[in-house]
Amino acid sequence: MIIDRFKQEPPVNIVGLAEALGLHVEEDDLGPEFGGEIFRDEDSDSGYSIRVNSPDVLVRKRFTVAHEIAHYLLHRDRITDRLRDDNMYRSGLGDQREQAANRLAADLLMPAKVIRDLRAQGIGSPEEMSERLGVSLQAMRLRLGIRGRDH
Ligand SMILES: [Zn+2]
Repeated sequence: MIIDRFKQEPPVNIVGLAEALGLHVEEDDLGPEFGGEIFRDEDSDSGYSIRVNSPDVLVRKRFTVAHEIAHYLLHRDRITDRLRDDNMYRSGLGDQREQAANRLAADLLMPAKVIRDLRAQGIGSPEEMSERLGVSLQAMRLRLGIRGRDH
């Protein structure tokens, strides 16, 4: 499966995965209240493109790409012209679907196999893992089941 090819080595090439799925990825300044969006685009192979908020830091942009890929895989039938996520990844699809998109995004960026491989190399702290995987420390801690003060 195409996704598995991108799940082998950290950091996961998340833009490469999007492109392999036929999703064009671009950046634009969406304003501070928004994180990203997926929208119909006849020029892309899948018929959809992803736009991430250009001022965001890299780890957040990577998560946004993964989150929008997840919407494409899980909720394509519910995307009309445009599905826009705010900066808390809320889009109007409802909490359950947003949580499902966040879970799949975490699985794409932090595959269980890669986490096992890192641990086998002696890399076990959330700080080191988040650096290797190109994700925020908060996302890494959530993935590892460590409850942070923010939650
Ligand atoms: Zn969303």
